[in-house]
Amino acid sequence: MIRRLPSEIVDRIAAGEVVERPASVVKELVENALDAGARRVEVDLEKGGKDLVRVADDGTGIPFEELSLALESHATSKLRDFEDFDHLATYGFRGEALASIAAVASVRLVSRARAADEGGEIEAREGKVAAPRPAAIPKGTLVEVRDLFAQVPARRKFLRTDGAELAHSIDGFVRLALAAEGVEFVLRHEGRPLHRFPAEASLAERIREAFGRETAEALLPVSGRAPAGTLEGFVAAPRLSRADASRLLLFVDGRFVRDRALARAVREGFHDFLPGGRFPVGFLFLSVDPATVDPNVHPTKVEVRLLRAREIFSLVAGAVREALRRGDLAVPAPTLRPIAEPVAVGEAPFPFPEPEPFAVGKPRAREGPPLSLATERSLRTLQIHDAYLVRETAEGFEVIDQHALHERILLEDLRGQFGAGSVESQRLLVPEVFPAARADLGFLESVASTLASAGLGIETFGEEEVAVRAVPACLRRLDAGALLRDLFDLARRGEAPPREALAEAVLERLACRGAVMAGDRLETAEIEALLARGAALPHDATCAHARPTRIRFTLADLEKAFQRR
Ligand code: ADP
Ligand code: MG
Repeated sequence: MIRRLPSEIVDRIAAGEVVERPASVVKELVENALDAGARRVEVDLEKGGKDLVRVADDGTGIPFEELSLALESHATSKLRDFEDFDHLATYGFRGEALASIAAVASVRLVSRARAADEGGEIEAREGKVAAPRPAAIPKGTLVEVRDLFAQVPARRKFLRTDGAELAHSIDGFVRLALAAEGVEFVLRHEGRPLHRFPAEASLAERIREAFGRETAEALLPVSGRAPAGTLEGFVAAPRLSRADASRLLLFVDGRFVRDRALARAVREGFHDFLPGGRFPVGFLFLSVDPATVDPNVHPTKVEVRLLRAREIFSLVAGAVREALRRGDLAVPAPTLRPIAEPVAVGEAPFPFPEPEPFAVGKPRAREGPPLSLATERSLRTLQIHDAYLVRETAEGFEVIDQHALHERILLEDLRGQFGAGSVESQRLLVPEVFPAARADLGFLESVASTLASAGLGIETFGEEEVAVRAVPACLRRLDAGALLRDLFDLARRGEAPPREALAEAVLERLACRGAVMAGDRLETAEIEALLARGAALPHDATCAHARPTRIRFTLADLEKAFQRR
């Protein structure tokens, strides 16, 4: 027998789509506060939000007569007709969040509309809404949601530990706080303050509050403009990359979204800068014409559909790549630690003579060159362990991985030539012959034309050997045997990649096998040429495997380590 479900059950089913966990409640209530024009939003949680989510705001409030409507489903003050759909300026529009929450938790709503003399309150328990009554509240709205899923044990069971639910709630809170500049946000758990974002805090300051100093200090500004939209925000330098995409926060028209295509565009921008399997950190805000985006794909609205997706892809990838090229990506020195703990004054094992005090105002007589690194003499570079270059800089010194830097230089050279047609090739006087398995020979034959364009002349030679007859002219020290092993590894990864990806992979391996190695002693002229060629590139911060080429130490780092300040 087909029967209509009672409305209570209908609401509970609908609630499942909107309310998954305490973090969903945090999100819906804070969004309502922002929709109401709040300038200050305070969030209090207990037991990670399972026992209580309370959100107080100073927004427009709700008129007394509308209090019970606010808890009804499909009742909203934000969407009037179909046309509004094309230019949604609010987070909410479905009018089902409060009703859904009230179906699975106890809700108390206290509010006072701006012009009203007094406020009112309304309560809902187990889906039943009591009549509104007058209540004292200075302004704005306060919503308390208690005992989420208490009446729905099947759902309550699926909630994680308080700590895990708290983490989700913080994530949801932070996403909204990042996007809403000009609004003050406070988050407390069991009365303890967790986050505070002052109204005047910039995006960079909000990121610092949410994710800490290390992230804040690695931020590179991103800015891009195209007919399809604009992109603003930050990416973090590649050294902060992560094993998952959880710190890549993307917003479309101020709304946090999870969009695979956008995330892929960001990774594309990071192509040269991140090793495979790593994910960038970023906080990016895409603005598009609201008529070209459909946020109504899912009740929680984290998925979007973007028209003009191709244009948006190149806008995002291009702006991110540009930010990385312009950014200072040298890895800062790891925090240097003194070898011994400082000895407290008075407990010194030996009586050190008091140092002569520095004369103030009168320069001390000094022999030798001045201490400052003004332009008075050229900066010096030293090769150490035949592997690293230690180079004096205006701010301190940097340590360069000679192989990594050379690899980047060669890769850019090879890419340039390949892009212009083919890499200039040079025949070897005597071909080099290497053993190869039958499967490897097959692979080499299938990619022969790509290899030829990359400047490589490789021929199979009998049944079990290959001969390398020509190599790129720019690689004077190519280790052909190592290169072949790399190519065979490529083949074993499965089906041959598309031509473009294959070419890129071959060029990367050529650059690696053609570069100076750790252990190669370099002449002064070679060192100078290496540094000059690196400096002439669009960027020389990472090698072909996207690892850093240099680590930077500042005089400030040294002073700190030597406890001079
Ligand atoms: P929606 O946000 O989609 O309209 P909700 O169920 O979240 O649906 O809210 C229903 C209505 O209640 C809103 O349209 C709004 O009029 C009112 N409301 C909810 N929260 C607030 C608030 N914090 N301040 C002012 N009005 C609110
Ligand atoms: Mg809402």
